[in-house]
Amino acid sequence: MPATLLIDGRWVSAPATFDVVDPASRTVLGQAADAGPGQAQEALTSAAAAFRGWADTDPETRGGYLRAAAAEIRTRQGELATLLSRENGKPLAEANGELAGAARMLEWAAEEGRRAYGRVTPANAAGPGLVLRAPVGPVLAITPWNFPASMLLRKVGLALAAGCPVIAKPAEQTPLIATALLRIVQDTGLPAGVLQSLTTTRPGELVGELLADRRLRKVSFTGSTEVGLGLLRQTGDLLRRTSLEMGGHSPAIVFDDADLEAAAAGVVAGKFFNAGQSCTAVNRLYVHESIKDDLLALIEKKTAALRVGRGDAEGTNVGPLIDEAGLTKVENQVADAVGKGAQVLVGGHRRDDLPGHFFEPTVLVDVTPDMLISHEETFGPVLAVSAFATDDEAVELANSTDYGLAAYVFGNDLRRLWRTLDRLDFGVLGVNDPAPVRPELPFGGQKNSGQEREGGAEGIDAYTETKAVALRLH
Ligand code: ADP
Repeated sequence: MPATLLIDGRWVSAPATFDVVDPASRTVLGQAADAGPGQAQEALTSAAAAFRGWADTDPETRGGYLRAAAAEIRTRQGELATLLSRENGKPLAEANGELAGAARMLEWAAEEGRRAYGRVTPANAAGPGLVLRAPVGPVLAITPWNFPASMLLRKVGLALAAGCPVIAKPAEQTPLIATALLRIVQDTGLPAGVLQSLTTTRPGELVGELLADRRLRKVSFTGSTEVGLGLLRQTGDLLRRTSLEMGGHSPAIVFDDADLEAAAAGVVAGKFFNAGQSCTAVNRLYVHESIKDDLLALIEKKTAALRVGRGDAEGTNVGPLIDEAGLTKVENQVADAVGKGAQVLVGGHRRDDLPGHFFEPTVLVDVTPDMLISHEETFGPVLAVSAFATDDEAVELANSTDYGLAAYVFGNDLRRLWRTLDRLDFGVLGVNDPAPVRPELPFGGQKNSGQEREGGAEGIDAYTETKAVALRLH
């Protein structure tokens, strides 16, 4: 029986298990324990008991566990990357990059936890005031399958650094890499109860059980907007801190003064990374009409050169989608766009010759706002291209979505770039940079893409409460 549940400091199994499927071959890769509400209660009881002791542990000591975990991840990166690639489908190079990023995030959290400063306010007639920051309490961290290492360890690292015990709830598609990483964190010698993990096929039931319990003080969620909004509704009667990192539908604007070669490379990298299954993926490309043909010629060439295949095969650039539902969604978007007049520049079909959930890297041109792909998150290897005439039109098109996670701008005129950044309603902005996620920067979205931030100094804020102390000393 797979022992993938971490409860009260011990790895345990459950009466039921579930299969984990390799998306490149649709064969069974392994099993995980299927936790239910009873185990969720046990985990929360243990986390609640561990809270005070962990909060009182000094930040340098808390950071020490995280630094040790980061070092171990770096030592075992090759083996972990293979597991991550097989379970999620992403190319090995990307799996390695994700793990290195996760280790850096743990190190950032370890350092930043020591800087959870408060403030002293000037004395009034009675005396000075203090602003203190205290760990919020037991945290539930719900994480997705598309970045099963970095999303998980970002939450775990920041919460532990801030002094909060964590109950991790990894995605059911990728429990094996999550479990391997959490084992590494636990094996640094964490006290029992500080870290728990629950793999399950019944996330709604299990999370509902935890949300109904007032001992749980914070939920940090990364996943779909639909589930995230449902969580907000569920927390209605027992208010608690909630961080949401949900969907995105990122635009990229390419101005006529951009370096076209760099812009084409940036758009192709930002689009097809993780087979387009990223909430920050470039989904909608808006290109100035005067350079449209030149830019598209470069993008077509680069896209056609991408190699589709198993993530763990040599030379693969684009792996499979996670499941059949992901493949069908992409197919529907392409069929809808073509039916409404879009042209397929390259790609356009599923790869029936391969056993897994593969779709060709695809570029659609002459995309219009009435098409599904203009407003529904893509989550697959399809780029939708439209032209614009003025800067204002580009910004209006980019903002014409309920999402507000990431946006990209390619150009060289600083004044124009700055004006555009000011007007874009997105939380993360890449300027000539298709990979704008760094541990030092707060990550998160506006509008229906989410609330609160992960990373940066804001990442620690998300796991602390503010206490105002008024002193009467005069
Ligand atoms: P995706 O559609 O990309 O798989 P989901 O939002 O369904 O994204 O999944 C993200 C995370 O949310 C996963 O860990 C999943 O198990 C969890 N999840 C799914 N449904 C619920 C729910 N009803 N309540 C809480 N968590 C959920």
